[in-house]
Amino acid sequence: MIAHLLKKVFGSKNEREINKLWPIVDEINALEPNMQALSDDQLKGKTEAFRQQIADGVPLDELLPEAFAVVREASVRTLSMRHFDVQLIGGIVLHQGKIAEMKTGEGKTLAATLPAYLNALTGRGVHVVTVNDYLARRDTEWMGVIYRFLGLTVGTIVHGMDDAQRQAAYNADITYGTNNEFGFDYLRDNMKFSPEAMVQREFHYAIVDEVDSILIDEARTPLIISGPVEQTTDQLYDETKPKVIKLKTHQDRLIHAVFDEALEKLEQEGEGDAALEPLLKIKRGDPKNARFLDLIAQRPGLKKKLERLEGQLSTQKLLPQIDEDLFCVIEENQNIVELTEKGLKLIYGGHSDDYIVPDLDEALGKIEDDDALTPMEKRVQRQKAEAVHREASERFHVTRQLIKAYWLFNKDVQYVVKDGQVIIVDEFTGRMMPGRRWSDGLHQAVEAKEGVKVAEENQTLATVTFQNFFRMYEKLAGMTGTADTEAPEFKKIYDLDVMVIPTNEPMIRLDHSDVIYKTEAEKFRAVVEEITELHRKGQPVLVGTISIDKSEKLARMLAKTKVKHEVLNAKNHEREAEIVAQAGQRGHVTISTNMAGRGTDIVLGEGVKDLGGLHIIGTERHESRRVDNQLRGRSGRQGDEGSSRFYLSLEDDLLRIFGGERMSSIMERLGMEEGEPIEHRMISKAIENAQRKVEAHNFDIRKHLLEYDDVMNKQREVIYRQRREALSGESLRPTIEEMIRELSEKTAKSFADEEVFPEEWDLKGLRNAVSRQFGFRLNTDRHTMDGLTPAGLAELIFESAMKAYEDKEVSFGAEQFRGVERMVVLQVVDNLWKEHLLAMDHLKEGIGLRGYGQQDPLVVYKREGFDMFADMIERVKAETVGFLFRLQIARPEEIAAKEKARQEKVTYSHGGDEAKAPVRRSKKKVGRNAPCPCGSGKKYKKCCGR
Ligand code: ADP
Ligand code: MG
Repeated sequence: MIAHLLKKVFGSKNEREINKLWPIVDEINALEPNMQALSDDQLKGKTEAFRQQIADGVPLDELLPEAFAVVREASVRTLSMRHFDVQLIGGIVLHQGKIAEMKTGEGKTLAATLPAYLNALTGRGVHVVTVNDYLARRDTEWMGVIYRFLGLTVGTIVHGMDDAQRQAAYNADITYGTNNEFGFDYLRDNMKFSPEAMVQREFHYAIVDEVDSILIDEARTPLIISGPVEQTTDQLYDETKPKVIKLKTHQDRLIHAVFDEALEKLEQEGEGDAALEPLLKIKRGDPKNARFLDLIAQRPGLKKKLERLEGQLSTQKLLPQIDEDLFCVIEENQNIVELTEKGLKLIYGGHSDDYIVPDLDEALGKIEDDDALTPMEKRVQRQKAEAVHREASERFHVTRQLIKAYWLFNKDVQYVVKDGQVIIVDEFTGRMMPGRRWSDGLHQAVEAKEGVKVAEENQTLATVTFQNFFRMYEKLAGMTGTADTEAPEFKKIYDLDVMVIPTNEPMIRLDHSDVIYKTEAEKFRAVVEEITELHRKGQPVLVGTISIDKSEKLARMLAKTKVKHEVLNAKNHEREAEIVAQAGQRGHVTISTNMAGRGTDIVLGEGVKDLGGLHIIGTERHESRRVDNQLRGRSGRQGDEGSSRFYLSLEDDLLRIFGGERMSSIMERLGMEEGEPIEHRMISKAIENAQRKVEAHNFDIRKHLLEYDDVMNKQREVIYRQRREALSGESLRPTIEEMIRELSEKTAKSFADEEVFPEEWDLKGLRNAVSRQFGFRLNTDRHTMDGLTPAGLAELIFESAMKAYEDKEVSFGAEQFRGVERMVVLQVVDNLWKEHLLAMDHLKEGIGLRGYGQQDPLVVYKREGFDMFADMIERVKAETVGFLFRLQIARPEEIAAKEKARQEKVTYSHGGDEAKAPVRRSKKKVGRNAPCPCGSGKKYKKCCGR
């Protein structure tokens, strides 16, 4: 009460803020006569003068009054519209980077020309964001007249344009387009291979029209560009699988026989060598053999004895004698798997050469020493040897992983198969870990074994939420008729203040209280009755529904009454706008979903004012008050007559699901009869409470999405920055040199040891590692190695690598090589980033299902996501350098073709229409006690399922 009084005396905070702007409006108004006195050319000349002032360092705020006066005068001369004073206020608020709440019909389109012009004078581009292509085009044409008159350029971005057209539109001073187009262009730009192909410039200043729709409703789902998954290795797993099964069958048979032999010996001679040797064979051939494990369990001490014998034979280098009989050997605790000669012959028969990984070091040494070869031939030979080595290694690797899958990994112990997926079981807790994958191909091997394929038809190539996209703008502003109810969200997520701008004319629309019926059928009957009655009078009616379904239902009922009506459910925005624009004509009845035709001006027909203006009927409360206000706002624009009423029933989703006990008890108290509506303030209050609850819940969902995206957003920034750097034209050579140095140090560290003399380092392993990473043979003769420290070794590798690198550069020509470096970095970054996105998707999906005790899944996601990212960065370095050292003269046209092919295959998606449905259910049914799919870690019934 007191608060109310105070407000009356001193005005609300909003009023006080607005009042501060009136003096600026006075200033603009005072300039009007001067403007009117100017010729067209003189008026236009102002643009150049302003630009000069900006160049001289005059801040935009100082130019604002005159610039606004110029735009207003230009508008009068070209469109015969003179910005109302409240539109000037709106324009100032927009310039300040805030949200201007201006009711429908107040002329937001025109108001936006003021800050758009002023900020475009900087030459850094202004984006005006609309909800659909039709409005982007309409507003460009409509407002473009003013801008062009003043010498500015305007562009439009719409669906289906090519890059050249986009570039031109973005290069204009002011660019109109939808949020989706701006967002996808951003993602696409960051997949480009040359800076010239990028279409966007800066994210300087954006004015978002219908800002609640875009920054809140559409922000529920991220923008995603996806493309088909390339899985070339999968085939190799499938090809190898039968071979490994064959191997397993033979080994099993063998082990069975050996076991019988071992048992016999045990009985005859006890745990002596005669029995231990066959048992060791089993340990090495099938460490998880059930009979063997039972035996070990029954005879304490046997395990120790076996290990001792194994150790002994190993130092005497006699293990091969034990292994000889086996097809493959599995050293479980060292995670080593080897095929024996026998095994190789069994599965590869005559082709076993293909599978024996050649000794690369030896091969390279031979080529090096062959004096008959020219340097060019040597290079070709080297590459051939490496290719052979690589292929054989890969085949071998796959075989090994499959062997592990068959020998060491058991279904329902280490993993389970559920819904066609292999899910890891945590060995300590026994909990399932959906989303986690074993690395290095092991997971694929287990999938091949189980005959399941992760059905990954499409994978994310790039993604961003609107929240993170729009936060990139240096200055962001918005306008809409309905923002106030969502002010806290705008503030928290976008740091945007909402200012409510007074209307030009006082609002006189009559908003009746809600009427509420027991059943939906009664409600619709009442709606039809009201429509019929008003229609008879000739008063136009606009009926809002919450879904296309409901629109059609109502239309069917109306069809029986012979009331002529339009149903608006077309997906075509232009057609939609045409129909809605007519909704204010005498006798028109228009049925549409709440959001359809947004942004279209409804002008009243002749004589309609006297009939009471446009009447709005709401057939259900939306879950958000804001959307209801949108519908209401279609009527009573610019001081027009108008009215509105909402019809509800107890069967409506909102009341049913969220109304709760309170609603029922109110109903009971008021006494509700069949067919008899009630109308009471208490009900409206209860409904509003229900709406608040849902609004808060939806805000939570969006916040949640954002929290997860924030993790990736940081990573995306790093990657995109790296890409941009690569594209900037600066030489990448210093970066690559740095990578080479790091890799040299890493390699040196794993082979050199302070405590050991260099002669005793594993030089062969070192040479192999160097040639794998850098593709050249490291000189390790005694003279070079003598007295070398680990740091010295790192230096040696680095120096030799740089020398090889410089040779490469010379053979390509320095300038061309810079281009090659760029291409390689981009390709490697893109590939690994894509893989990383996939892994992050898996992680996110899985994490919500994991059910952590006390741990916050978001924290787990952050931590694991960070580890994965760090890992990826390391791989970027290793692969980039590896690539560069192996490269032959690259053909740019090949890369261009590759990029083009990739672009043609991608899909663009955004949850779009889904977001407009009032109550959203996830497609898959979630059990009440199951973990909530939102990833909160709570039970579904305690979280989103509440
Ligand atoms: P909003 O987006 O705020 O709902 P619009 O920009 O669609 O409103 O404008 C509504 C109508 O008002 C349009 O027909 C427009 O021509 C008209 N209008 C806007 N500003 C003025 C003005 N200053 N003088 C005359 N008509 C105006
Ligand atoms: Mg508008």
